[in-house]
Amino acid sequence: LKEVAPERITMKTYDMSKVPEAELDVALKRPSQKSPEMIYNVIKPIIDDVRQNGDRAVLSYTHKFDRATSLTSAVLRAPFPESLMQLPAETIKAIDVSFENIRKFHAAQKEDKPLEVETMPGVICSRFMRPIEAVGLYVPGGTAVLPSTALMLGVPAMVAGCKKIVLASPPRPDGSITPEIVYVAHKVGAESIVLAGGAQAVAAMAYGTESVSKVDKILGPGNQFVTAAKMYVSNDTNAGVGIDMPAGPSEVLVIADKDANPAFVASDLLSQAEHGVDSQVVLIGVDLTKDQLTAIEDELHKQAVALPRVDIVRGSIAHSVTVLVKTVDEAMRISNKYAPEHLILQVKDAEKLVDRVMNAGSVFIGEWTPESVGDYSAGVNHSLPTYGYAKQYSGVNLGSFVKHITSSNLTAEGLRNVGEAVMQLAKVEELEAHRRAVSIRLEHMNR
Ligand code: NAD
Repeated sequence: LKEVAPERITMKTYDMSKVPEAELDVALKRPSQKSPEMIYNVIKPIIDDVRQNGDRAVLSYTHKFDRATSLTSAVLRAPFPESLMQLPAETIKAIDVSFENIRKFHAAQKEDKPLEVETMPGVICSRFMRPIEAVGLYVPGGTAVLPSTALMLGVPAMVAGCKKIVLASPPRPDGSITPEIVYVAHKVGAESIVLAGGAQAVAAMAYGTESVSKVDKILGPGNQFVTAAKMYVSNDTNAGVGIDMPAGPSEVLVIADKDANPAFVASDLLSQAEHGVDSQVVLIGVDLTKDQLTAIEDELHKQAVALPRVDIVRGSIAHSVTVLVKTVDEAMRISNKYAPEHLILQVKDAEKLVDRVMNAGSVFIGEWTPESVGDYSAGVNHSLPTYGYAKQYSGVNLGSFVKHITSSNLTAEGLRNVGEAVMQLAKVEELEAHRRAVSIRLEHMNR
């Protein structure tokens, strides 16, 4: 039998000197998401059931969706038994190194003293930080092992000083949680692990059940059911719960010039393309010759066919794009318009380009900085805005686990200085009690 060469894995190319920008805009549209109504009709009854029936409902969905039919408790409570976190030494070491780097970077984001400004003599305004007391961290996947997501959410929560950290993750069919996640939960001082996934886990943490603690904010990625449930509970005033940003399929944009190593460029594109068929990767080539472009394309194909997840890669590469531009300026303009979750700069003097990055979740600078270091161990967070949301959202950071409270503290002189403006504006708004709260004091001072 003659061996058939695998179909070439390649991205569609748009040369900006030949193609109108509108055509590129269409190509750079993210792959569409599933119908929100359909998902809503699935998650709404689950959420209602958990609200009404608590643990019993949570367990029934875990039996159904995660096939963990022997599970009798919805929660694993700290202290977690050693036997549930038995891991090879090299895994422990990798988690410990990553934990420490993530801890260091997020600890540096803490404000050690309140901001204080005297806006007028005697008018002192302050802003200070307090941790969100109880947070729920969703770690996706019954089958996949995702200790990195547990680290990226758990470590900043610990550093921020959140009093109660609750993790939730769908159990494996035997009812257990992967030991890596239990180990991370232990390291960040989690109170408990909810042995559930999907809308039922989100609802349990949003409303609380007999055994699941109610939290103030739910963070973490997940599939469409998880995301829709987070949106739903955050809009329900009965839950009184906040959420982080909506997370969609992973994406990367690489800017490469003629100095970039084709093998490195291809490896970075593939490291996002392997996430899922919904992922999109974009290469912007700056003033590349035909040979340089061919070298990258050859590498992409060669490396892709050798990957265990080549089938997923084929799916994502099918809606991925190469854009050819003449200048770095043009590359930056297109990148800022796309607002990628991950931006990789494989160009000469990459550091100098950072000033011109306006929209991106996280930036990876120069040839020795593959995006995967940020996924796991460098210290930056990997929970980042996708789908162009980098235009208005930050990724998860220490600020995601705290709130800022302001205070004002006026002396008599301060009230004398600012009082007239307050009374005048209260008058304009016809709020007489507001006006009098100032005038009564000023009269008192003048007595
Ligand atoms: P998941 O934990 O998000 O979802 C599993 C749960 O989905 C199950 O427990 C079940 O409750 C629910 N579910 C499944 N089918 C259902 C149905 N028909 N009706 C109702 N509920 C149903 O795990 P997953 O499905 O493996 O998805 C993981 C997602 O997280 C992926 O989309 C992946 O891209 C994303 N992810 C993102 C990051 C990131 O940092 N951005 C990291 C890891 C994973």
